[in-house]
Amino acid sequence: MSVIPKHNGNRVYENYSQDISSEAWDVIVIGSGMGGMSAAAALSKLGRKVLVLEQHYIPGGFTHMFARKGYKWDVGVHVMGEMREGEVPAKMMKWLTNGKAEMVTLGDPYDGFYFPDDYDFQMAEGNQKFLAHLKSKFPGEEKILDKYWKTVKKVEMAAKAFFLFQTLPRWLEWPLSKIWYGLIFRNWWKVSTEDAINEFGMSEKLKRTLTSHWGYYGSVPKESSFGIHCLTHTHFWNGAFYPKGGAKKFAEYMLANVVDKGGKVAVRASVDEVLVKDGKAYGVRMEDGKEFKAPIIISAAGAKTTVNKLVPDNFKHSEWGNSLRSIGDSPSYLCLNIAFKGDIASKGAGSSNMWLYTIDNNDQQLWDITNLDEAPHLLYVSFPSMKDPEHERGQKETGECVTFVDWDAFIKWDESTFGNREAAYEELKASIEKRLLDALQKRIPDIMEQVDFCELSTPLTAKHYCRASKGAIYGLNASTERFSNPHLRTRTPIKNFYLSGVDVATVGVVSGMVSGILTAATIDKRAYLKLL
Ligand SMILES: Cc1cc2nc3c(=O)[nH]c(=O)nc-3n(C[C@H](O)[C@H](O)[C@H](O)COP(=O)(O)OP(=O)(O)OC[C@H]3O[C@@H](n4cnc5c(N)ncnc54)[C@H](O)[C@@H]3O)c2cc1C
Repeated sequence: MSVIPKHNGNRVYENYSQDISSEAWDVIVIGSGMGGMSAAAALSKLGRKVLVLEQHYIPGGFTHMFARKGYKWDVGVHVMGEMREGEVPAKMMKWLTNGKAEMVTLGDPYDGFYFPDDYDFQMAEGNQKFLAHLKSKFPGEEKILDKYWKTVKKVEMAAKAFFLFQTLPRWLEWPLSKIWYGLIFRNWWKVSTEDAINEFGMSEKLKRTLTSHWGYYGSVPKESSFGIHCLTHTHFWNGAFYPKGGAKKFAEYMLANVVDKGGKVAVRASVDEVLVKDGKAYGVRMEDGKEFKAPIIISAAGAKTTVNKLVPDNFKHSEWGNSLRSIGDSPSYLCLNIAFKGDIASKGAGSSNMWLYTIDNNDQQLWDITNLDEAPHLLYVSFPSMKDPEHERGQKETGECVTFVDWDAFIKWDESTFGNREAAYEELKASIEKRLLDALQKRIPDIMEQVDFCELSTPLTAKHYCRASKGAIYGLNASTERFSNPHLRTRTPIKNFYLSGVDVATVGVVSGMVSGILTAATIDKRAYLKLL
């Protein structure tokens, strides 16, 4: 099966050309990641003619797939929560994909955490089952766990309004959020995970267990917001899912709405600037100088890209621009894409993800790749082909190992171009590849004989293909600072210009989808109904 998203047998997108009409559009969306696609699909379904402009040669952003020698990998989709029938995000998915996306469960357990002291913990599917499992592992801390569970639920309830507030005009959002987070709920978005967890008086081991999923939002407990920490728990309380047929199905099904309503999805279409006159956006200028006009412009290209590159200088250096620029990035990442020949199921691979820790704490975020004696602190291992029921077992199976690194280790090659980097870069990649395979071998030794070949992606790869700022894995850092920023919203100080994408929601694929509907609702109130 190809990695090309198709609709009615044809590609759902086309290459950018000067011949595309300049003025036929109701909405222009910059970027076709989950945020851009969802906003475009929602507004198309509400009757707008949308032009989606994507700089990569394939749509999907971090949900695109790629292939080598018949093997296929997803870039940024390993697991998604809240996809059980009846859950609000599952309903959104159904709406945006016209019921076509089939989400399959990873089974139970869906995640396994492995620590260096021979301690492991399996994440059970189902909120109460997970709690019972924790209680059995931590006798004597049952009451603390009950209290923690109640708090997580409360935080989830409080957090939901946060998304709605993102879409309201400031004059309305300000008093409402003051009441919501001042009088009704505590504002957990502003409390670090570490500080919040310390209030429960739990053992160090329980703290480590409960916070060991920090990799799903990329920030360690001392800097992450307790809001995102709790939402990550509840995101998976009804299990973990994967799209049947792989992540490209999102582009296939969502962008079909755009095409069916007379819109267009153009790839190799790099936007240079948003056109603004008298404080109002009216179009975009492409890198080749061509201009497109529309009464509504959405940037789903990332908040940093938007304020660093796309908006005019006076907005780049406005209070809004400076404020968004000041938020840190999530960590840069490495991903080793592995091709396996033959059967890997009998060698220890499955649909459940593995989190391999080589350190006994959740404080160290980045692997120091310059220290040859240091193993990755945390290695996330996933086997995408094993999750997909459409994949033929034992044929062209695939794996991915992800870890976090310092952007500074790659900065010297930032100006070099893809495919033309110097030998030292390739040598570094070879050394990293070997060390990542060593780390995998320690956990699943038998799988090594099945390795056909590997390909490492570095932060420069993510920057090249997805224009991710500093090759960051999840957009902006999931810190208390980010979730307290009053400027990070779907609305911008430029009239008719809106933001979408994970940066205006939280982290991950489902968050990207929610952001698209939030942006659509900001523009067309009918989309609010889809948030219920
Ligand atoms: C290795 C990895 C693993 C992950 N695993 C998971 C997971 O298991 N579960 C989960 O929920 N999430 C996961 N994520 C996160 C998730 O994939 C992303 O957070 C989400 O898809 C981001 O969506 P987005 O639309 O905000 O941004 P993006 O997908 O980054 O989309 C932005 C788009 O804008 C385009 N663009 C930028 N500048 C321009 C321009 N000037 N002109 C035109 N186009 C432009 C880019 O090319 C890109 O396509 C993972 C991410 C990574 C990297």
